[in-house]
Amino acid sequence: VTEGPGTADSETLATLHRVFGYEAFRGEQQEIIDHVVAGGDALVLMPTGGGKSLCYQIPALVRPGTGVVVSPLIALMQDQVDALRALGVRAGFINSTQDFDERRLVEAEFLAGELDLLYLAPERLRVDATLDLLSRGKISVFAIDEAHCVSQWGHDFRPDYLTLSLLGERWPDVPRIALTATATRATHEEITQRLRLPAARHFVASFDRPNIQYRIVSKADPRKQLLAFLREEHAGDAGIVYCLSRNSVERTAEFLTANGIEAVPYHAGLDAGTRAAHQSRFLREDGLVVVATIAFGMGIDKPDVRFVAHLDLPKSIEGYYQETGRAGRDGLPSTAWMAYGLNDVIQQRKLIQSGEGDEAFRRRAASHLDAMLALCETVRCRRGQLLAYFGQDPDPAGCGNCDTCLVPPETLDGTVAAQKVLSTVVRLQRERGQKFGAMQIVDILLGKRTGKVIQFDHDQLSVFGIGQDLTEAEWRGVVRQLLAQGVLAVEGEYGTLVLTGESGSVLRGEREVPLRKEPKKPAAARSRSAG
Ligand code: ADP
Ligand code: ZN
Repeated sequence: VTEGPGTADSETLATLHRVFGYEAFRGEQQEIIDHVVAGGDALVLMPTGGGKSLCYQIPALVRPGTGVVVSPLIALMQDQVDALRALGVRAGFINSTQDFDERRLVEAEFLAGELDLLYLAPERLRVDATLDLLSRGKISVFAIDEAHCVSQWGHDFRPDYLTLSLLGERWPDVPRIALTATATRATHEEITQRLRLPAARHFVASFDRPNIQYRIVSKADPRKQLLAFLREEHAGDAGIVYCLSRNSVERTAEFLTANGIEAVPYHAGLDAGTRAAHQSRFLREDGLVVVATIAFGMGIDKPDVRFVAHLDLPKSIEGYYQETGRAGRDGLPSTAWMAYGLNDVIQQRKLIQSGEGDEAFRRRAASHLDAMLALCETVRCRRGQLLAYFGQDPDPAGCGNCDTCLVPPETLDGTVAAQKVLSTVVRLQRERGQKFGAMQIVDILLGKRTGKVIQFDHDQLSVFGIGQDLTEAEWRGVVRQLLAQGVLAVEGEYGTLVLTGESGSVLRGEREVPLRKEPKKPAAARSRSAG
């Protein structure tokens, strides 16, 4: 496009240079900004760190009037406004943390046309006084941040977001831009509908992170597997190791340190001073490893994180994507590595059952977990599965940079193995009042006369020893995959295995059960040669 000086195009670029000090727009920023400056509505899906803020900040600066930003992150508003003011942008906010005088001051600035940007908490828009205030000033653009909060099925649902549909009715001439980082195709449609943005242009940035290599290995001795992975592929590199519990964070950090890898723990149980010290060491030093719970990472912007490792299964693909996304922000090759096993499935299923929340909440949590498990068990391209989850069309030929592309896993017909497991579960279920988990099932199949097997006469069962064709690791893999596929379920605090509605058809031989073949010896780093 050839446009002369004074057009919107050069004005936005000039604003980018002058106010923010950046060289050039990134990705689709330019197109989005031009569209909104010209008065169009927009729906922007961009991963965290993609640069969403500029997409409404620059239109707010270029168009006459004040840009009104609706955001649920009240705790961040003060910081956001301070940062903008430091750049010379006239910004203010109205939320519940302010006293009366502070609010009056911001309101006066807005009415006098002295604000470029006004941040509002969504609940403010339920109040008539706020709507009156807005009608008495001049608004350049409405930005609705974290727009997925309007989705009733998302985990961040905010009822107040439903009221935002009125913005379009009351201010039909003011462009609206809705932004989010975590949207599946379904959420996407919900945002368009509930915010009444039928004419909005959609800007969907790619969720692909091509420089991140995705790998998920079968869990045997996770700390040793992690150590081998770090020594062979990431010696001296900075990275993050995620664990579920504070206890395992502590022990993993000690284990790595004892084995010559400098590692510090980070979790909510540490005092604020220690946490801050470990975080700032991670940001400052080269090659430090942080072992952390998911409490670590929000707002961490370190470009050269070379690996993110998971020793426990994340609860959802959204979580996995966000955590692994902290690797390789500089675009250089990085690894997302995870060790995953039977106990992860059992533990997560138990957590959902014993956790808080109503039935609908549980169902949602279970479906998030199912999607995560499907990613772990897939025999196809992991990146393809991730992108499809976020509604993007993956390359049907595979990505060439994930473990299943690099070393395609073998599959086998697991129908007979599945029937052996299910028949054992059926027999144990008949013993009323007794609860047996995966361990006991596997011991029975292998024909092991353990104390617990003898105690309950399980060596007398017809299924005792019928599974000697597979190893213990392979049986654990079979049970894990049956749990992941929903052919088997866990119940209660001991993780008792029980049948599901799907079990019958497998037992009767009416359907096949394809299984991913377990490696005889879990390989920590099989794909180095391909990299
Ligand atoms: P998001 O809201 O999508 O998570 P931000 O708007 O916070 O992302 O931007 C992430 C980081 O990228 C910020 O530090 C921001 O200043 C920087 N950034 C955004 N756009 C550009 C650009 N065009 N050039 C350089 N840095 C940018
Ligand atoms: Zn792939």
